[in-house]
Parts: sequence; structure tokens; C-alpha cells
Amino acid sequence: MSFLERAIKRGISRGVSQAVGNAVRTAVEPKATELANKTAARLDSASNNQTVQSTPGGFEGAMANLERAAQGYVTEVSKNMKICPSCETAATADNKFCPRCGTRLPDQTLAESAVCTSCGKQNDLGMKFCSACGTKLPYAIAEEQRAAAQFAGVMAEWDAKLPAYPKWNLGGSDPCIEQDDGYLWFCVTFPNNYLAQKAVEDYRALLRAEGFRPAGQYPSEEILFKKIGDVCYRADTEHCFEGGAESPTIYFSVGEPVGGFDYVKTEPTQAFNFKSLFR
Ligand SMILES: [Zn+2]
Ligand SMILES: [Zn+2]
Repeated sequence: MSFLERAIKRGISRGVSQAVGNAVRTAVEPKATELANKTAARLDSASNNQTVQSTPGGFEGAMANLERAAQGYVTEVSKNMKICPSCETAATADNKFCPRCGTRLPDQTLAESAVCTSCGKQNDLGMKFCSACGTKLPYAIAEEQRAAAQFAGVMAEWDAKLPAYPKWNLGGSDPCIEQDDGYLWFCVTFPNNYLAQKAVEDYRALLRAEGFRPAGQYPSEEILFKKIGDVCYRADTEHCFEGGAESPTIYFSVGEPVGGFDYVKTEPTQAFNFKSLFR
């Protein structure tokens, strides 16, 4: 695959994900790839006879056109497509129930969900607000409701599994609680690394406000402890970006820090007693 083809595929992918996100991506990717190949061949021959350089906007302009073309194609496809609110499978519009999980599908097609309820404009998919009048689109509202329902479900799980720790109320998407070998961890995703780091810092502040603190022989703001009765609870934010810069993972476990929760540095035993001079 040439450099040009790779660049174009990236452009297509970006166009498609801006348009619909991951849900429809698998469904439209084959067609998008075909589109990429055609465009690659066209651009390749164009660059050979140097017309790309003389095109206004050059390569960047060609890429922008391509993203628009991908977006237009996705809008076309979405007229006959519904998305399962439960498992995000794409199904053709004639389906009433999800072919994968059986959940009832919405009445609207994906394209209809991007029609403005206020002025009737058909917007591109992935837009949150109507480009003509600024009204929030049904697609965006449904997406928000789905995300809120998902968070509510995970927070109910939090109550059951992590009652000793303050709840995560700092936004993000795709929350989940996982469990393995006595460890529990919570993972959530942000649009970028900056927001992810900020949220983790805020969660540390929340832990401190709830009585968690650095403890043990090697106290650290990144691993905080709290004793409730005889049990020592531990929240580890030190390793939270190892799984990805945008998806922090907080690890929760039970156990004393090195040296014990109330570790006190022992003073060296005095070899010489000053007071003994004056006896
Ligand atoms: Zn489904
Ligand atoms: Zn509108």
C-alpha cells in the first residue's frame, strides 16, 4: 500500500468516525475502502502529472473533499439503517428488533434521527446541533440518554461492589467495573488525555475529601488509603494511564501499605546521652 493510500484511508476513517462513530463503522467500512482505493488511484495518477499541486488546497484540499465524500456516503447509507440502542449493531431499516440481541429497535432510521425537529433540515450524522438553527438533534439526545442509562447501570454496580469508595461523578463515557483475583477496577474514557488527567486529579481530591490519605512507609498522593474498622481500603491512581492515555483505570483493593497504615519513622537509638554529662 502506498503512502498516498494509507493517508487516504486515514482520511476516510476520520470522515466516517466523525460522521457516525464506531457503531456504523463496520457496516460502511467496506464501501469506504472501495472509495479510498478509487480515490487513491485517481490521486496517484493526478500527482504523476502534477495536477494535485496545482489544485487549490493541494493534497489537503483533496483530503477534505474525500472526507466530505465519505460523510455524504454515510448519510446516504444511514437512510436505510437503524442502530440497536443496546448492542450498537447496525441493522437495515425494515428490522423491528435487533438481529443480534433482540432489543426493540428505534422507529427512526439513523438519517431521520439527524433531521432537525425544529426546522426540518437533514443534518450530517455525528452533528450534535442543527447547522441551520442550532437545535439539539434527536440523534444527540438519544446518545446522551443512552450514555446516562449506561452510567446509571454502572453506578448501581458501584454501590454493590465499591461501597467504601466515593463514586465517580466526573463524566467520561463507556464506564465499566471489572473484577479479577480480589482486585476491582473502574475504567472510563475521555475525548482526550487532558480531560482524562484532570478527571483523575479531581477523583484524588474526592478521595481526600472522603478521608483517604497517603499512608505507610512510602506515602504518595497517587495511592491513597482509608481505614474503616479493621479494614484498610486502597485506591491506586498511580498506574491509571497504563491502559491508555484517554482511558484512566482506578484500581481498588484491600490491604495495608508497606510498613503499616500508621507507619512512624523510628528515630536512631542514641549512642550518646547529652544529659549524662551533667549528672
Ligand atoms: Zn442489539
Ligand atoms: Zn434546525
